Amino acid sequence: MIVYKFGGASVKNSDGIRNLSKIVSEANAPICVVVSAMGKTTNALECVVRTLFDGKASEAYELLNSTVIVPHLATARQLGLDTQKLENEIDNLKDSFQMVSHGHGQLYDKVYDCIVSYGEVLSTRIVADYLQLAGNDAHWLDMRKLLRTDSTFREANVVIRDSQQLLLNAIADEPHNIYVLQGFIGANSQGNPTTLGREGSDYTAALVGNMTDAESVTIWKDVPGILNADPRVMKDAVLIPELTYYDAVELAYSGAQVIHPKTIRPLENKSIPLYVKPFMEPDAKGSVIAGTKKCRIEVPVVIRRNNLTLITIRPLDFAFVMEESLPNIFSVLKQHHLKVSIIQSSAVTISIAVDNSSHIEEAIEFLRASYRVSYNQGLTLLTIRQTNKEIERRLKPETQIMIEQRTRNTVKFLYRTLQDTKE
Ligand code: ASP
Ligand code: MG
Repeated sequence: MIVYKFGGASVKNSDGIRNLSKIVSEANAPICVVVSAMGKTTNALECVVRTLFDGKASEAYELLNSTVIVPHLATARQLGLDTQKLENEIDNLKDSFQMVSHGHGQLYDKVYDCIVSYGEVLSTRIVADYLQLAGNDAHWLDMRKLLRTDSTFREANVVIRDSQQLLLNAIADEPHNIYVLQGFIGANSQGNPTTLGREGSDYTAALVGNMTDAESVTIWKDVPGILNADPRVMKDAVLIPELTYYDAVELAYSGAQVIHPKTIRPLENKSIPLYVKPFMEPDAKGSVIAGTKKCRIEVPVVIRRNNLTLITIRPLDFAFVMEESLPNIFSVLKQHHLKVSIIQSSAVTISIAVDNSSHIEEAIEFLRASYRVSYNQGLTLLTIRQTNKEIERRLKPETQIMIEQRTRNTVKFLYRTLQDTKE
């Protein structure tokens, strides 16, 4: 088995789906094709759910129709598909929408997963139908029946053993060359749809690779592979041809947008190589992540993470026992789904930079019950791995640096990009 994963950008329109079909048809079967929602569909569905919860059901339905249903039908028609199966799924989506819009006191995150998961359902339906039309032996699988998770809606944890059994049985029951399955979505044991966190399709691909003992996993992207910097920021960015699993985890954690941070572990566990390749140039070599030996990256790697918030926490009095406070603080951050990117502590303060999120204010309110808390928004974290004087001279921020951290090979600067301090 091999696993290919195509993200939203690679299936954003009919040309993208034709390109996917060409790449998949040329691969050696059997193959699992993991697909994200088309283009910005997930954002559009998030907006539908938000509008619904704002009490504007008919506006939400209008959005669902104009930003999701109509464009999917249009793409299917451009591809010359018989739209019957797609329309069946659209009917299911409409039914789910009606059901949640008439329910009262429902959990936001549960409704979110029920509706937002349709992005992948619809995209895979189109991809599977097109692969069949193009003469392939392709079979659509429903990950809401195969990827078993707990009930942590919007950030669900996968129950690997159950999922593996379900997936392998589904494959054994229906032998085909190509299986098309949804990234990002699963369901709990009651059958309620769940999602794995934004951009979670890479993680699904890695899990499918792990569960099927795949020879390799390939993520097809709109970049040449893994670069040492964002080419929009550094014009002379170069491709990193080989990385270890450890390098890849470090890059993902520092905020490199190439792969979802959870992707590496299921692959590393079974020594499955991960290729990152450009979908517009399928014969290019791209990058490969494999092996655990020491770092193979020879160039400085520059990662910029924008829009962070630095939360600074002090005790209400001087009795700040770090060992007691830290678990408490981190459990609040976890409960509010905040992702930490840098931590700095002194005797009486701890400063933690987290990704921008709609839950920040809530978390801060929570922390304020026990601590004095201030925060700065609009910060940027610049991480340079394999750093040297020359690259630091070029890139060290001129604006106010709030935290600078240095280890032997890596330097991190957290600096202010927008003036915005709140007490
Ligand atoms: N469609 C989901 C998202 O946009 C998952 C993914 O693309 O990986 O977040
Ligand atoms: Mg996406």
